Amino acid sequence: MTKEKSKVTSGGCFCAAVRYEIKGQLRGVVNCHCSQCTKLNGNFGAHSKALKSNITITRDKGLSWYKISDTAQRGFCRECGSGLFWDNIEQNTLGIIAGSLDSPTNLKTIGHIFVEDKSDFYEITDNIQQFKGSSEGKLEGDFL
Ligand SMILES: [Zn+2]
Repeated sequence: MTKEKSKVTSGGCFCAAVRYEIKGQLRGVVNCHCSQCTKLNGNFGAHSKALKSNITITRDKGLSWYKISDTAQRGFCRECGSGLFWDNIEQNTLGIIAGSLDSPTNLKTIGHIFVEDKSDFYEITDNIQQFKGSSEGKLEGDFL
């Protein structure tokens, strides 16, 4: 087993009523500028991603799920309010709200999606790839 594959990344909410561990590699962070993410996070949503089968919730005392739609739900801590997960129930991957990962994450931001919907109080000033809407599988570095 390579070092990369055997590594474990940990994370959790602010008050530690939710803790999780992820085996193997995580996708780089994608900033989602859609209006849903902006409302839910107070800003754009910075998401990593991992295979659901590689994720273990080691403490779920505070874990709640808010149903966004028939196919999507958001995992958060009902004790402290931290956002943790973005779950499209039809996919085998789980979006990880990047700020919930323990530091150092060793991740880089690799893209911006739904930039057409972004709020007007900030500009995107980096040179990272952008997509008007969904990346539709065209995001470089998205191996999941
Ligand atoms: Zn908490």
